[in-house]
This record gives sequence, C-alpha cells and structure tokens, in this order.
Amino acid sequence: MRIGKGMNVKELEVKYGLPSEVKFCKICNIINQRPNSVNEYEHNPKSQKKTIGFDEDGICSACRNKETQHENIDWKQREKELMDICDRYRKTDGSYDCIAPGSGGKDSIFAAHLLKYKYGMHPLTVTWSPHLYTDIGWKNFQNWLHIGGFDNFLFTPNGRVHRLLTRLSVINLLHPFQPFIMGQKTFVAKMCAKFDIPLAFYGEMPGEYGTTEASDGGSEKKFSDKPGSGFSKDVANGKDVRDLYLGGVQSGEIIEKYDVDMNDLLAYFPLDYSVYEEKEIDVYYLGYFIKWDPQECYYYSVENAGFEANPVRTEGTYSKYNSLDDKIDGFNYYTGFIKFGMGRAMQDAAQEIRNKKITTEEGKALIKKFDGEFPKRYYKEFLSYIDMEDEEFRQLCDKFRSEHLWAKVNGEWKRRHTVNGDGVDD
Ligand SMILES: [Zn+2]
Repeated sequence: MRIGKGMNVKELEVKYGLPSEVKFCKICNIINQRPNSVNEYEHNPKSQKKTIGFDEDGICSACRNKETQHENIDWKQREKELMDICDRYRKTDGSYDCIAPGSGGKDSIFAAHLLKYKYGMHPLTVTWSPHLYTDIGWKNFQNWLHIGGFDNFLFTPNGRVHRLLTRLSVINLLHPFQPFIMGQKTFVAKMCAKFDIPLAFYGEMPGEYGTTEASDGGSEKKFSDKPGSGFSKDVANGKDVRDLYLGGVQSGEIIEKYDVDMNDLLAYFPLDYSVYEEKEIDVYYLGYFIKWDPQECYYYSVENAGFEANPVRTEGTYSKYNSLDDKIDGFNYYTGFIKFGMGRAMQDAAQEIRNKKITTEEGKALIKKFDGEFPKRYYKEFLSYIDMEDEEFRQLCDKFRSEHLWAKVNGEWKRRHTVNGDGVDD
C-alpha cells in the first residue's frame, strides 16, 4: 500500500471510533467502517460507533451469517413455528390479532399480505409517516390498502417539531433520519399497547451483520429488542426523560431552547417498560420464520398490491424499488457515505451478492458507477425542510468527513481507499 502525500497513515484523524485501517469484504464489498447496530437512544454527538466484524480472511459477519443460514436452517420447521404462533393469537371474533407496521414499501406489503392471506391473521397495519412522501411512495401506500386490502392507522408526528429535530440531527450528527428512526422504533409497541394487540411482526431481520444485542441465536433474531426498553427501565428507576438525546440534543434542552412542549416529544420517547410487561407485548421478525428475499418481495407486492417501482433510477444506487417513499431518504444514504464511506449502491449490492443475485465483480462495477452520487432530485425540498442553505449543508458535510477516509486533492474531495482499488492512497 502506498502512503499518500508523504503522510503517515497513523497520523490521520479517525472520527467516531472507526477502524483506522480501511478494508472491504472479499465477498460482498461492504466497507469495515459500517456501524453495527446503533442504539439511537444513546446517540449523542460524542458517542463512538461499533462497527461490523471482519474475520481474519477478510469476510464480514453478514456474509458468514448468510453462509451458516443457507446451510443449517430448516425452513419447514421455522414456518411451522410461525403457524403455531399464529394459531395461539388468531382471533375469530372480528377483532385484530396482530400489528403489521409499514409504509407501503415492498417488504411491508409482502409481510402484511402473507400474514393475512396465507396465515389467516387479521392484521391492523400501522404507519409512521415518512418526512415528505414522494408521489410514488404515496401511491404505493394507497395501493397497499386499496388493492392489497388492509385497515391502516397512519401516524404523522407534529410536523414543525419533526422538522426542528431533523435539522438539529443534521447539524449535530449529520444524520437526517435519527429522530425519524427513534419515533418509528417505538411506534409499533405503542400501537400494540394502545389497541391491546400484544403481537406484532416486523419483516426482515435487522441483525444480518450480527448485532451484539441479538437475544436469540446469535445473529439470528426471532424477537425484536424492546425499543428503548433500556432507557425506559432507567426512567422507571428515576432517570429523567429529559436526558434523552434527540437530534444530538438532550430533550430538556430542546424544550427550554426551542419552545417545544414535552407533549410534542412524546412520539419519540420509548414506551414505559412496565407496559411491555403488563401487556406481554411480543414483536417478532417474520424474516426469522420465512426466507426473506428483497427481490421476491418486490415481485410479490407488484402482483398482490399494485406496487410500482420508481419510473426513474433511485439516486446513489442502481435499483428502482428500494425504500423510495421519502424525499429525505437519499440524504440518509449520502450522509452515511460521507461519514463511513458507505453509500447506497454498496449496501444494495452487498445484499444482492449475499442473495446470489449478482457477483462480487458486478457489485464492484455498480459501486464504482453509483456509490456516493449526490441526491439532487429532492435537494431543494430537503434544504427547505431543514431550513438550511446549500453552502451550509456542504460545509457541514465536510466537517463530518474523517481524515482517514477522505483527502482533498486539487480542491476536490477524494476517497483514500475504494473497493476498486483506485483511491488516493490505494
Ligand atoms: Zn461481506
């Protein structure tokens, strides 16, 4: 490895506790800077990231997990387990027996449809609204209900406060999705409590990278973690809910500084832990019980709920059907590219390589072509949403670039290392 510009690699500043040596998985091309799972409730500006594991052969934990999964899982047995759970909870008195969350994307359509029409459940679908619906996202959401055939509860948090929190989160964390994710995570359990429905199903398992919190079978997760339960236990033990970080600022400070009522932040706070216990709420991952293939979800939702892919390619990647309902979405991926060197194409390709849809080499070519592409289609709306000027946002991005990932060459930011081996220091 050549050491760029006479600079010792060890002297380069490394932000967020990322690994100082940059590596790419030999199978799926994912970068070793990718954060593992992030506990959003402790997401203050100084928190350090835990990154995904790589073994001595240079293979990431997600690829290793996938290998074991392909070899060892008895999917018939898993499906039987799911049917047993459905039999235990199924209602025949006309009431709902489970909650199926989603925004009307291909995965949520697939999950809800399967529960209702294959396993004979009576799901209430619930939706934590995107920041700004895209036209195609809204249409797919409506089709989910009108063609797929579901009852739905759409919850939209206070738009003024949501914008403020998103702005703070961009300024403090360069993470436009943190408030959204916090609200979304705790939303499902809250709906379970509200409607007295103790069973809910997420779709795909999030633990493909082998989260350390996996409570069930290592990287494999049957149950969702109870979102914010650690924090709500703390609250029960006297910790102040005002200590909770939203957008990198403690809630108490937000209330005082920005003229926000405690009530306007409720949607982001975790469910009281005692409610989980009292109501015996269980949230499962459907992906534990049935083989989850994003491409199959897409075909299924086209056929059964009138799902439509984007007529244009999603910026930053090559696909047309992955998370396309929120105008802010592209910026969530773009900021990840700035902070961790991991764009949207890299994530999409890694998943498709593991599912054996494309090869490692094809993935590399797609990454070279699309990764880190600036999402300009909704840039104006994004800036207006977070009340920021172009120049301010670009300067912020630069502030969050870690020196061990980025070098400025002739006034232009270049990556020091790429999976294609054409970085400044490769
Ligand atoms: Zn990998």
